[in-house]
Amino acid sequence: MAEEDDHKRTIVYGESALSYIKRNTLPAYPRAYELWYTYSAGYNHGLNRAINQVIKTNGRVSTEEMQSIYGKFLAPTRLGDRLNDVGSKVNQEVEGLVDALKMSADATSDYGSSLEKAGTKLKSLKDPAKLQRFVTNMVQATHNAVASNKQLETQLLESKRQIESLQANLEAIRYESLTDELTTLNNRKHFDSSIERTVAQARDSSSSFALLLTDIDHFKKFNDTFGHQTGDQVLRLVALAVKQNVKSHDTACRYGGEEFAIILPQSSLAEAAEISEKIRVAVMSKELVKRSTGENLGRITISIGISTFKPGDTAHSLIARADESLYAAKRGGRNMVKSEEDLPKEGGSEVA
Ligand code: GH3
Ligand code: MG
Ligand code: MG
Repeated sequence: MAEEDDHKRTIVYGESALSYIKRNTLPAYPRAYELWYTYSAGYNHGLNRAINQVIKTNGRVSTEEMQSIYGKFLAPTRLGDRLNDVGSKVNQEVEGLVDALKMSADATSDYGSSLEKAGTKLKSLKDPAKLQRFVTNMVQATHNAVASNKQLETQLLESKRQIESLQANLEAIRYESLTDELTTLNNRKHFDSSIERTVAQARDSSSSFALLLTDIDHFKKFNDTFGHQTGDQVLRLVALAVKQNVKSHDTACRYGGEEFAIILPQSSLAEAAEISEKIRVAVMSKELVKRSTGENLGRITISIGISTFKPGDTAHSLIARADESLYAAKRGGRNMVKSEEDLPKEGGSEVA
């Protein structure tokens, strides 16, 4: 179901993106497509506002304006570019450190050989004036060695600071790359790796866990009636209801457009059903009011499908059963929770 939805929705966005490119007689290179696709999907409000403003002022978007908007709203989100940037900064830091350490090693070995020479010389020194000069030279050599160590220390401290800030950058990039921007839940990429990991753990420890798939009921109609932006608010609201009813060891993700997936590593089917009911009731209990106008938008409901890990399951088979259960909930009239127990048993024959 998710795949078919994605197909239909993304084709519409793609066709709309191409028609914007044609209408504005722009070059159809991949970044232009990315920009207009994002515009058509409407998820990046800043980008949409910027484009709408240009259209309002000039009637069309020129190549330069398009590049500038891309640079402002999409280029910073290109994680690959940002990672390269952090990578080259780390390289610079390491090169600087290696240079500083080399310089200090040279200075220390100079000081060492000065001391060595001085030792030999000292034995033959009887003249106080010469002895005096000798001591002055030694003080100077020691002073140089201390200064060069100080310099190294300052440089090391500065490098430590730089590396810590790069570490924070990397952490921010990692967080963003695994988080859904709209709902701040984990994104699909995070889900894909989490479910594989959880399946492997369950297999290794011969244990089980539960998976929930949630889909908003008649959401297309809601969007068509109240607009995409209000629809986005509803997505945030459902995400909140999910967050409030799961524990920190659970993994709640935005699985697709208006679908959520929740991995419950420590839950049995009965416990998963209980949590699902709580989420379902939390969503249907909220009366939706448009903040800007006070308009009452009624209520929305969700359907939930549950599956639990069984020996021999793969991530794929587990997701497929949760999806079938979700379908059963939709067929059963929506606003309900169904699990794999409610599905017709495999090998059994269904009477038409
Ligand atoms: P059903 O009860 O069978 O699930 O009906 P539905 O209308 O929800 O079904 P369908 O899956 O066909 O429609 C999903 C709709 O969700 C299409 C699109 O309008 C909306 N949608 C998907 N992603 C987003 C999003 O990010 N923001 C908003 N506002 N709407 C979205
Ligand atoms: Mg759907
Ligand atoms: Mg739906």
